[in-house]
Amino acid sequence: MKAVCWYGKGDIRVETVPEPKILNPRDAIIKVTLSAICGSDIHLYNGYIPTMHEGDILGHECVGEVVEVGSTVHNLRPGDRVVVPFTIACGQCFFCQRELWSLCDNSNPNAWMAEKAYGYSGSGLFGYSHMYGGYAGGQAEYIRVPFADVGPVKIPVGLQDEQVLFLSDVFPTGYLAAENCNIQRGDTVTVWGCGPVGQFAIRSAYMLGAEHIIGIDRIPERLQMARTQYHATVFDYQESMSARRSKIPLEGVDPMPALMP
Ligand SMILES: [Zn+2]
Ligand SMILES: [Zn+2]
Repeated sequence: MKAVCWYGKGDIRVETVPEPKILNPRDAIIKVTLSAICGSDIHLYNGYIPTMHEGDILGHECVGEVVEVGSTVHNLRPGDRVVVPFTIACGQCFFCQRELWSLCDNSNPNAWMAEKAYGYSGSGLFGYSHMYGGYAGGQAEYIRVPFADVGPVKIPVGLQDEQVLFLSDVFPTGYLAAENCNIQRGDTVTVWGCGPVGQFAIRSAYMLGAEHIIGIDRIPERLQMARTQYHATVFDYQESMSARRSKIPLEGVDPMPALMP
């Protein structure tokens, strides 16, 4: 099969690699139908994440169709369409019992590496270095999903891949940021960074009751999207810094927008 593989800083290649196989009774094999590139993949691309090996398959945000399940996976069957979350969770440990999936104690066989680097380890992650388990990622035609009876979420009939893909990481990440703000109805919320996670944080903040959003970034396309899609008041921090340096009065900042319905 074809897969996106890491070969070093700035060196990512599409290679032909062996297809994954069921290794454990709780595994499933998923035929990937859509996969996203994450901002976190940029850290791998730029060589900031240790314990990457040449040939590692990238990708931790994908949806696909179940093609095979292990003998003890009873909630999925071939043909089911699923979203695959990027965290791998056993469903049985102290943390999983409290639905703190990203802290799973059992899914990262290389936890000692992450503990050495960061003090503590999270769960195993797809396509995100050996200190997070060395699991092959989802920027590939097929992926092996361990503990497949816990993580994958079945896609309801009628929803397209594009509508659910971001449930694998980007949407919940943005939602969590908004949730952590303890937003009260009518609040004004500022979102630093209007990339994909920021866009979902903006949308989530409205869902949780915010009345005004101020989006801050320096990429024109992101600011435009925040303004036109989500009626955010936008602020280009680079423009403001250069304006301040040259003592030119700040221009181009929109007035407060009409309220979201
Ligand atoms: Zn991601
Ligand atoms: Zn667990």
